[in-house]
Amino acid sequence: MTKIQTAALAASALVGLVLLRSRPPEPTPPTPPQSGTPPELDALQRRSLAMLETLRSEIRPLIVALIRAAYESGISLVVTDAFRSSAEQDRIYEQGRTTPGPIVTEVRGGSSWHNYGLAADLAVLAGGQPTWPNDLDLWARIGAIGKRAGLRWGGDFPTPDRPHFEFHPPGIGPGISPPPIA
Ligand SMILES: [Zn+2]
Repeated sequence: MTKIQTAALAASALVGLVLLRSRPPEPTPPTPPQSGTPPELDALQRRSLAMLETLRSEIRPLIVALIRAAYESGISLVVTDAFRSSAEQDRIYEQGRTTPGPIVTEVRGGSSWHNYGLAADLAVLAGGQPTWPNDLDLWARIGAIGKRAGLRWGGDFPTPDRPHFEFHPPGIGPGISPPPIA
């Protein structure tokens, strides 16, 4: 490299440095949009949506919080049952008593928090299907997550009903007000 070439190179480097220095500061790249809801969680909530819509507004966000927190613990939950009319409650009360099938409830129509839109039953989604694993530790974890969300857990009932969660707002519920007609 000749002296001239070296000088020219040094000069161009200097110009480059000056240009670089005089450049306005790089704008901060925009933060990518964050929905805050991973697609899998979104799918779980969508699957539960029709059921959630049958519930009173007081309990809905608590069930959503339960689904979200369980998802973050690696448990995929879906709502399988929510509001139930008194007639439907009476029908399932008879199941295992006067009609075929296992006993699924201890209470008649009007006595269940489901009849007030204040209870939901959940299942663990596995292979795309609702399942009720025979795993008491898993259900205890789910129960604890639900209670942290502000719900009462059926696993604490004298006859444990582990998939069941309910919420008791003031002034409404079995023995307090008549169930909604539906
Ligand atoms: Zn239930």
